[in-house]
Amino acid sequence: MFKKILVANRGEIALRIQRACRELGVKAVMVYSEADREAKYVKLAEEAVCIGPAPSAQSYLNMPAIISAAEVTDAEAIHPGYGFLSENADFAERVEKSGFQFIGPTPESIRIMGDKVSAKQAMIKAGVPCVPGSEGELPDSPVEIKRIAKSVGYPVIIKAAGGGGGRGMRVVHTEAALINAVQMTKAEAGAAFNNPAVYMEKFLQNPRHVEIQILADKYKNAVYLGERDCSMQRRHQKVIEEAPAPGIPRKLIEKIGERCAAACKKIGYRGAGTFEFLYENGEFYFIEMNTRVQVEHPVTELISGVDIVKTQIRVAAGEKLPFKQGDIVLRGHAIECRVNAEDPYTFVPSPGRITLWHAPGGPGVRVDSHVYNNYFVPPNYDSMIGKIIVHGDTREQALARMRTALGETVVEGIKTNIPLHRELMVDAKFMDGGTNIHYLEEWLSHHKR
Ligand code: ADP
Repeated sequence: MFKKILVANRGEIALRIQRACRELGVKAVMVYSEADREAKYVKLAEEAVCIGPAPSAQSYLNMPAIISAAEVTDAEAIHPGYGFLSENADFAERVEKSGFQFIGPTPESIRIMGDKVSAKQAMIKAGVPCVPGSEGELPDSPVEIKRIAKSVGYPVIIKAAGGGGGRGMRVVHTEAALINAVQMTKAEAGAAFNNPAVYMEKFLQNPRHVEIQILADKYKNAVYLGERDCSMQRRHQKVIEEAPAPGIPRKLIEKIGERCAAACKKIGYRGAGTFEFLYENGEFYFIEMNTRVQVEHPVTELISGVDIVKTQIRVAAGEKLPFKQGDIVLRGHAIECRVNAEDPYTFVPSPGRITLWHAPGGPGVRVDSHVYNNYFVPPNYDSMIGKIIVHGDTREQALARMRTALGETVVEGIKTNIPLHRELMVDAKFMDGGTNIHYLEEWLSHHKR
């Protein structure tokens, strides 16, 4: 096991990784920008290094500053968390070339999965079902593009190979609009992602977002830890996640989970990862893979009893996965609400000083947050300030626990989206389970304030 790890992130995930290190008896070096000097995990840290001013480009995205922080503190490995540099293959490569272990997959795996065209091709080869569409990048010939769209069937979606964060996508309903849409997406993709390659998929009308969590070691052992339903989204941003996904037959999940685990073995994947799927009419369609720990990992931890972050660290240190697929038993139901510093209905960010913070507690309640009384939420970063996660024997019990937890939570001084979560937890359709990816946006349009 490592003696010392550098945590190259901020906010709740930095605290989460620090906690995992403590349990493992590993020292954690925390890095922080000038705006995060007051963060809880910095104050709790045995060692902390300031890596630059508030803007991310000069701190949390500053590769030389992070690597030299690891050098001066004698850390052996770097945990990238999520966001920032976590899916940057060049960073992973620089970390390893500088003599540190990157806590994540190899730079090659990150590179393959970071390009959606090569990721899809790898998945097709590994037998993971994908959304039907162009096989690879779209050609230049308008005649060819029209032929492909016709065989896929309208509506289609044009997506950038290098896209991310819900950007670089365009839906096309008719042949008349096709060529123009392809050209516009190509131009945008070239400017935004430095890669003009685009591909085509069938546009699914009312899918759910269901993803499979996997863990793998470098000895080609891989397991899946069930699924998460992340269909409650706004502008392609997840707001509520749960596990298991309501109403999907276990046999089907097992079949798709086994394919994902087999794909990991085939591509030599190591560490934690998530296969994201759209689910419609009883079918799974792969859309992309995330090669890092995800915000919503706690719901899987609560139903599986597996500590995903500790396992990431263990396998990065060269240990074998401590369990086999047969050892994984999923129990009960878990729900996560992301707590954002924002207006609950307009979504305008609301940074500033938190004058009162009271977190919920009780049986089956977990709060992952770096916030405390009198903490100042800096305006420079993502608005998520924490997550409330509950576990119950059944979905009904989990919902009841979440209602109680949200009822106990007090945040004063800034606005948060807790009022929105309170309303959604008593919404009849959400309570039924199985709402699709458009449900929250539609709900919001009918609940204008
Ligand atoms: P990103 O990396 O930008 O998040 P994804 O490929 O994961 O891009 O897609 C983001 C979201 O866009 C999906 O969760 C879904 O809402 C929508 N989407 C993507 N592909 C399709 C498709 N073929 N049909 C319908 N919706 C899609």
